[in-house]
Amino acid sequence: MGKDILSMLPQEIEDDFLAMGEQKFRARQVFEWLSRGVRSFDEMTNLSKPLREKLKNTYDLYQPKVLSKQVSKLDGTIKYLWELKDGNAVETVVMSYRHGNTVCVSSQVGCRQGCAFCASTIGGLVRSLEPSEILDEVLYSQLDSGKPISNIVLMGIGEPLDNFDNVMRFLELVNHPKGMNIGMRHISLSTCGLTERFDELAERDLQLTLSVSLHAPDDETRSKIMPANRGRGVEQLIESCRKYYEKTGRRISFEYAMIDGVNDTEYHARLLAKHARYVCAHVNLIPLNHVEERQFQPSTPAHMRSFIRILEDAGVNVTVRRKLGGDVDASCGQLRRKMQKS
Ligand code: SAH
Repeated sequence: MGKDILSMLPQEIEDDFLAMGEQKFRARQVFEWLSRGVRSFDEMTNLSKPLREKLKNTYDLYQPKVLSKQVSKLDGTIKYLWELKDGNAVETVVMSYRHGNTVCVSSQVGCRQGCAFCASTIGGLVRSLEPSEILDEVLYSQLDSGKPISNIVLMGIGEPLDNFDNVMRFLELVNHPKGMNIGMRHISLSTCGLTERFDELAERDLQLTLSVSLHAPDDETRSKIMPANRGRGVEQLIESCRKYYEKTGRRISFEYAMIDGVNDTEYHARLLAKHARYVCAHVNLIPLNHVEERQFQPSTPAHMRSFIRILEDAGVNVTVRRKLGGDVDASCGQLRRKMQKS
């Protein structure tokens, strides 16, 4: 097994090349080929044959394969199932908005967080994705769909902060001017609230948007539906959010899936409003999406309306997330790892 060159930054490839007695500018050439999606050294026609051979013996290249591609008849949302090099498979979604195309990427094969309403956690965590694998979800979704990607949301399968180093490296790669060059302000990272990572994330001072999957404003409700809350707690989460906001100046967004009879009462709305104001957070309500194995139902439109009114009356900025790709199970919480070669 060679080195995973697709997870390497240009500077690191340069260092490797210098150590191999190759010229620095060759490393740049290789990085540019890779960033265009070329996945065979033989296609890098501006390199000499002996160098191509040397690279073949040093590095691994892999191109993700489309196992399935579903296009929503309702809104054109595309859902890909990619086969990874070890036979595992993860999903990626491409959504088109007026302001551009957004890709929703997975960061792990499966998930260990256990949220009771989410399909991604069924079957637990298999492994974390490499930086190159997350990057290729973006690159190959763009190449295959022909839609230039301008925004990225880390809201697919997996918990990004449970794969911290690889996700940080992915961000560096996708943000690189010689790579896909996608600006941090066009990237959102969503977490179920692994607060022990918030300071580290704030220290990186990235301009991305942090989305926190809150889903309940009190410990009793939240611990019931989100095991990640147990041992951490809502108070710690809210304090960590406030600290993050104070340190970075970047407004956090609270994601809140509305579940009938579980988290949608007046009590929940008032407490949520209090937290949102304390943190200056924006609230993004998501009518719960259907997951076959789960018994939860979305809140009724009437409940949603009164919930929104309480938040707005408290001066909280609220939006309701538009459902995309519903007919191909591409909406929030519906993504799942699929098959696994044995
Ligand atoms: N693990 C991260 C990234 C996943 S993002 C996180 O928890 O934030 C996916 C978002 O969809 C999360 O906010 C998640 O809580 C939400 N979600 C999960 N299941 C859902 C469902 N059935 N309906 C609506 N949203 C759901």
